[in-house]
Amino acid sequence: MGAMAQTATSANCELSLTCYLLRVVCKMTLKELEYKIPKLDRGYANQTLYINLSDNTIKIKSVDEKMKKTFTGGKGFDLWLMWNGLPKDRVVKWDDPENEICIATGPLGGVTQYPGAGKSIVTSISPMTGIPIDSNVGGYFGPNLKMAGFDALEIQGKAKSDIYVYIDGDNGKIEIHDASDLPDTAYEITRVLTERHTEKDGKDLSVVTSGPAAEYAYMGCLNFSWWDMRRNLPRYKQAGRGGIGTVFRNKKVKALVAKVSKITLNMNAPDDMEGVKQVGRDHSKEILNLDPVQNRMRVIGTAHLPSIMDEFDLLPTRNFRTGSDPEAKALFGDVWEKTFSNVGKGWDGCWRPCAINCSHCIVGFVPKTGPFKGKSVVVDGPEYETIAGCGSNIAVFDPHYVAEINFYADAYGIDTISFGTTMAFVMELFEEGYINEKATGGHKLNWGAVKEVLAVLHEMATGEGFGGKHFGKGTHYLKDYFGKEFGVDTNVMQDIGMEHKGLEYSEYVTKESLAQQGGYGLTLKGPQHDEAWLIFLDQVHNYMPTFEDKAEALHYFPMWRTWFGLNGLCKLPWNDVVPADNSDTDEPAKVPGHVAFYARFFTAMTGRKVSGDDLVQMSERVYNFQRIFNIRQGKGLRINDSNPPYRSVGPVTDWEYESRQDRYDVQLKEIGMDITSMNTSEKNKALRAHREERYKCLTDATYKRRGWTRNGVPTSHTVKELGIDFPDVMAIVKKYEGQEPPADTLPESDEAWV
Ligand code: SF4
Repeated sequence: MGAMAQTATSANCELSLTCYLLRVVCKMTLKELEYKIPKLDRGYANQTLYINLSDNTIKIKSVDEKMKKTFTGGKGFDLWLMWNGLPKDRVVKWDDPENEICIATGPLGGVTQYPGAGKSIVTSISPMTGIPIDSNVGGYFGPNLKMAGFDALEIQGKAKSDIYVYIDGDNGKIEIHDASDLPDTAYEITRVLTERHTEKDGKDLSVVTSGPAAEYAYMGCLNFSWWDMRRNLPRYKQAGRGGIGTVFRNKKVKALVAKVSKITLNMNAPDDMEGVKQVGRDHSKEILNLDPVQNRMRVIGTAHLPSIMDEFDLLPTRNFRTGSDPEAKALFGDVWEKTFSNVGKGWDGCWRPCAINCSHCIVGFVPKTGPFKGKSVVVDGPEYETIAGCGSNIAVFDPHYVAEINFYADAYGIDTISFGTTMAFVMELFEEGYINEKATGGHKLNWGAVKEVLAVLHEMATGEGFGGKHFGKGTHYLKDYFGKEFGVDTNVMQDIGMEHKGLEYSEYVTKESLAQQGGYGLTLKGPQHDEAWLIFLDQVHNYMPTFEDKAEALHYFPMWRTWFGLNGLCKLPWNDVVPADNSDTDEPAKVPGHVAFYARFFTAMTGRKVSGDDLVQMSERVYNFQRIFNIRQGKGLRINDSNPPYRSVGPVTDWEYESRQDRYDVQLKEIGMDITSMNTSEKNKALRAHREERYKCLTDATYKRRGWTRNGVPTSHTVKELGIDFPDVMAIVKKYEGQEPPADTLPESDEAWV
């Protein structure tokens, strides 16, 4: 079938019922490659898979020791493949055929004995930011890919019509299939492909899909499937951030399928089998003992967070204006504990044996709107970011509707964080009278108007109306659109539109934590909490009073968190359950007991004897490399880290100032201001000048600690020390390291730089 079908087109086949039936049964193959499945060696397959969809090339590339030593795996491999695969003589746009989607796990991925060891890391040039985006996601795809013999998958080119890729890791076959018969939503595609390819009732497969809205929106996500053994159905985790689902659909990929009938520790071929088993047992045992008395992840998952965030004034409400709301209790963990199905009795680990088991769901959910209205469906989640972004931040305090937004966003292939944050921005503009129904396609987007919110979401799946044509392109796009088409004040939108570098903020109020303002503003990929989450250390505990203290945290934590993405690991087992004596250690925020577990795990798997510091250095290489990749893409300098929306730094309106007046008045007095005769507007202006200066000082201190120039460029010295001084990397560093930053991005004082 394969060779014959290579010349057939889907258009021809749609004319013929016979051919349609053949396609359903025979899965019309456009290209296939048989290969010998390699034996893994200490966590590595030592090869990657390359597919070009423009001409259906399928190639296998080898991985050498230098690539492993320099980039470790996961996101490191993804970025190195993209660095070499994308044209180097120009900025690559997200929808250029040369853009790639890379997916990898890492040397520790696919270990069934370790909690959280089943992650995949996806990268691409983002439609939202124009620079590399990476997303760390659960599900079985990455582990299945590795057991099929590949450390990473690299997809380039664009198909002429919809296709899906099938990787048969049991029989050593890769096939590109016509997908014109597949349905549209993520759930339906997974159902059809599971029926078509499984040989073990779904347990052997992982399917990656997006959804129909990703064809029109920039905020498209990917759904990675895993199998719920007890409920006997496919479940999903999302690679949400930065629009990789949009790139996926732009390449006309409908799905990726990886099949492996069983995964054992033996297949990963660890250097020290017993060592891996022992450290896995130690970590899992601790989780099982302590989770019930700590965050109760096994029962509530990340849904335990809204009440904590509300208590500490950190839960975004009404477009990040405030950090708590009396109505928010309707979205607290006790509500979700009752809403989630069979908590503690289902199979809620998005990786097979994960002791944390935090991926809860609602079975038998009945949507009140849209194409699934009145039908019984399964909602994966909601998790914290969705509850906050599509709940409190848009003033929707009805858990049913938060779950319904969650369900349709996943089905349509939409990132709930970008959706919620963009909706909050539009609602504030609407409420304050900057825009009306003319700008929103007739939708009355007042706070809490959930039926209108869902109507916009349904439009996104059709490409029609305000949702399909404009909203899905996100906050950055809408600032331009509302300014040009409806004359909305651009300064107002810059202040309250919560995006930076083009990516929407994830769901924490950062106004009172300078360190977290840097944790969002000084990131590589845009304001996403997975690089640094410092609010509690800074705002609640005041552990880092100086710029140098904050800069140290803004060096260490992004590096440490990057390490999980290099290895195919979930971060939650690191610090969502901590050792009983953690608070007695010198640096409890780092959870040193668990850093020691991870060093043991890496050593036992790879045979490379490492300490906790070595793990951080692995990340430093990749982190600096990604920064230079950003510069290559024209967006990795100080100017790009500057000028975050002021709502992330302080109170925009006088009303916001007055809501926290005691706190702000004290701060002004502490810097020596006499405020006795000042009105609120004057005080707010003075506070803003002070806070913007501090953000600039923090930028200085952080760059200095990271070994970068004042313009945000890793220095030649840093790059050489890290061993990433490849000629084309050095050419970029040399070109930019002597350049001065724009004067208006610098603070008045040099105190944090000299
Ligand atoms: S901790 Fe939760 S999210 Fe992470 S792997 Fe385990 S079940 Fe999945």
